[in-house]
Amino acid sequence: MKVKVPVSIDAEKCIASKGCTVCVDVCPLDVLVIDVKNGVALMQYDECWYCTPCEVDCPTHAVTVEIPYLLK
Ligand code: SF4
Ligand code: SF4
Repeated sequence: MKVKVPVSIDAEKCIASKGCTVCVDVCPLDVLVIDVKNGVALMQYDECWYCTPCEVDCPTHAVTVEIPYLLK
């Protein structure tokens, strides 16, 4: 089953297969991991502070953080 999580990663843009771990490194909650098999970053827990460094620092703009309406 595919679950909607607040942080989505565009697998086409993600360069984790080339060694990038920026989003994993900047996340204070450690909710992002690199899926080594597929060479992309992904969200392992549905938990997020919506602090957005993962989105801002991603060199290929592959990360989208969907901030819930009530927090905007
Ligand atoms: S920072 Fe961007 S390119 Fe790097 S692993 Fe994360 S999603 Fe992929
Ligand atoms: S918005 Fe913050 S807490 Fe959420 S995944 Fe990105 S860095 Fe981690």
